Amino acid sequence: GGAFVGKTAVVTGAAGGIGAATARRLAADGARVLCVDVPQAQAALSSLAAELKGQALALDITAPDAGAKLVAATTTTTTTATTTATTTATATTTATTTTTTTTTTTTTTTTAATSGIDILIHNAGITRDRTLQRMSDAEWHSVMNVNLRAVINIDRALDAAGALNANAREVCLASISGIAGNAGQTNYSASKAALIGHVQARSVALQARGITVNAVAPGFIETAMTGRMPMMIREAGRRLNALSQGGQPGDVAEAIAFLARGDASGVSGQTLRVCGQSLLG
Ligand code: NAD
Repeated sequence: GGAFVGKTAVVTGAAGGIGAATARRLAADGARVLCVDVPQAQAALSSLAAELKGQALALDITAPDAGAKLVAATTTTTTTATTTATTTATATTTATTTTTTTTTTTTTTTTAATSGIDILIHNAGITRDRTLQRMSDAEWHSVMNVNLRAVINIDRALDAAGALNANAREVCLASISGIAGNAGQTNYSASKAALIGHVQARSVALQARGITVNAVAPGFIETAMTGRMPMMIREAGRRLNALSQGGQPGDVAEAIAFLARGDASGVSGQTLRVCGQSLLG
């Protein structure tokens, strides 16, 4: 089907497991996807954008101008098509055998501005797991910065520029860790619980424009993020997510795709758990 034909989608953290699956899922139904990730992920980002016939934007979402750059990429970035028409007029005067050739070149520049954001997926996120006793201030701040503060700053910049179209769909990646909690993840759990608070407040604020704002809260999903966790935690995570073959990025992408659909207009301010009905919370 083509539920997203003609829609412009932005996916942050698109070079990661859930982000790439989501970008692919949205593009499969016709969305034009702006794939955003850190400059270090440029290679993966560019190949994904090429595969999806979308756009790549190397951007750290915590940068002070991140919101402005997203606005620029989605509302003022222009596709410039230059058409050159060459007209050759030849006038031949037989009496004097003089041939005059006049060449006129007309250059027409068509500027087609992209038309704002229809689907916004705040997916980029990090973990810095540590027991609270050992957690440094830097580990607290980096997680809060990426998972919460960057999202809020970007949303503020998008609103100031009117970058979200009426009836847009916004989805934030929360986590079961932000609902049930997780030992050794005080920073991460707090950031995701707070993100759910932001989603709820924002869903009310944007209601009048028909924009829905929801969260998805995955359980254990097999990506680079969880691949870095100790083996015992990974094994437990796989068992807990028994209903979905260990929890795959595609499971989350499918839930996001539902919330991104135009006809999901009655669902806002919600947190949809994608955890195989087997984790606490
Ligand atoms: P991942 O590590 O595979 O992908 C995360 C991506 O975000 C990476 O490509 C990374 O480069 C990017 N990113 C990080 N910081 C960024 C920044 N400052 N600016 C731009 N991009 C940045 O992880 P994932 O598992 O795909 O996680 C995606 C989201 O899902 C995260 O928000 C994560 O917290 C959430 N989540 C994951 C799981 C899981 O089990 N994997 C569970 C619950 C929630």
